[in-house]
Parts: sequence; C-alpha cells; structure tokens
Amino acid sequence: MTGGSKGIGYQIVKEYAEAGANVVIASRNMNKCEEMAHEISAIGVKALPVKCNVGNLEDINTMFSIVKKEFNKLDILVNNAGVYQTKPDIKVTENDWDAIFDINLKGLFFCAQNAAKLMHEHNGGRIINMASATGVKPLKRMSPYTTSKAAVIHLTHTFIGMASEWARYNIQVNSIAPGIIHTDINSDELGNKELAAKTLKRIPLRRYGTPADISSMALYLASDAASYVTGQTFYVDGGFLAE
Ligand code: NAP
Repeated sequence: MTGGSKGIGYQIVKEYAEAGANVVIASRNMNKCEEMAHEISAIGVKALPVKCNVGNLEDINTMFSIVKKEFNKLDILVNNAGVYQTKPDIKVTENDWDAIFDINLKGLFFCAQNAAKLMHEHNGGRIINMASATGVKPLKRMSPYTTSKAAVIHLTHTFIGMASEWARYNIQVNSIAPGIIHTDINSDELGNKELAAKTLKRIPLRRYGTPADISSMALYLASDAASYVTGQTFYVDGGFLAE
C-alpha cells in the first residue's frame, strides 16, 4: 500500500489486514508507517513499514526489493499515494507541476511496473490505482492534480494497455475514482465553512465520503468477487459526476 500511513490508504490497509492479508505500509514518513504497522500487527497479521517516496524511482525499486525479500510475492498493490494542491493556473510553477506528476503519475506507473514483475512470477495479482472523480470532472484551481488523475484513469484503461497487456499474466488492473472524501488532503478547503457548504451542494448524496466508502470498493476489487473485472474505473463519489 503506497500512502498507507493515513487517510484512505490506512483504512484500506486496516480492512485488508482484518480480512487476513499481510500488509506493507509505505509512505515518506517512516515514524508514521511504523506507528500504523504497530497498530495493524495487533490484528494478527504481518505489517511491514517501508519508507518510500514514490516520486523517487530509487525508493520505489528499493521498496519492491524489500517486499520480495520479506514476502517473496505480492498479491495486491494499491497505488494510493497522492498529493494535491489548489492554486490558480496563472500561479502554478514548474515545480508544482513536476511534484504532482512525479508522485501521482510517474510514481504510480513505476510502482505498477515493479508490482507486475513480481506478480508475473507468481500467477498474477491485482493492481488498484487511486484516481479521482475530478479526473473526469475537473474542479477549478486544480489543473495539475486533476490532469494527473485523468492520466491515471487513462493509464488504467489504455496506456500501453496496462490492463490488456498484463491480463495474459493474470494481473488485473482497475482504478477507484473517489469523489470528495474528508481526509487531511482537503482539510484546508473543507475547514473553510463557506467553501465546504458550496462543495457539498455539488454532491447529490449531500455528504462527503469517508475513507470507509473507498475501502469497501478496494476490498471488492481485491476479492474473488472481482475475478472477471479488469481495466475499469469505479467512481465512488456520492453522485458528484451525475450532478
Ligand atoms: P491523505 O490523507 O493526505 O493521504 C495521502 C497519503 O499519501 C499519505 O499516506 C501520504 O503519506 C502519502 N504520500 C503522499 N505523497 C507521497 C509520496 N511522495 N510518497 C509516498 N507516499 C506519499 O490523502 P487521502 O485523501 O487519503 O488520499 C489518498 C489518495 O486518494 C490520493 O491519491 C488522492 O489523490 C486520492 N483521492 C483523494 C480524494 C479525497 O477527497 N480525499 C479524492 C479523490 C482521490 P506521507 O505524507 O507520510 O508520505
């Protein structure tokens, strides 16, 4: 699990562990990963904390060699690490753009590539990419973020045919595109009462999502119930796209 230290990622880690999976908790903050791994171990599975900045290819390669050494195989990758920024387009810098794309897209691709190599050795697996509903319905002042997430959706569907190219190895690749989920990533915006009320009006179910709304989909996509599902994006957004 990349970005397993908090928010949506941590909720998924917890539910996978409750379902009996050994888990790897990776993020840039090793202390936080260790803390979370300690909590998860109490469930009775192995929880391995790994420091990994997915914006750095060397970190990614090291993380996957640790996974291979510790577990020898990988059944599920949740490509969840992501960063977000709101800024008027006129103020976006090259650094802003590169930072978001390096993490949200380049890092996600190379994690998937590493995972596919490991999965190929052991009869396949599941890759779940965390996209965003804003990848198809962009919000203002979020161009680099929403474009990176549109690319994640595209990558899952067609980019060098991730899903179709790897299907022959029994590797299934799907995306989850959450709507607006209340976590640290958007705490500034949702902490602003006026903006929060305005945003809520765009969600037909009239509530923000919770990490548990997303982990249910992640559980499904990792389960036998999804054994014939690949190359799809699942929108979990309270109706945001329909409004
Ligand atoms: P969050 O609470 O801020 O969690 C983000 C996670 O990603 C943290 O574990 C963070 O850990 C990790 N991370 C960030 N940059 C990283 C990097 N360079 N390398 C490794 N880990 C990194 O946000 P969240 O809401 O749970 O978001 C999780 C995913 O869902 C993201 O991809 C986000 O874009 C997507 N999403 C969220 C929403 C929403 O409304 N919340 C909507 C659509 C999509 P460290 O800081 O310790 O590295």
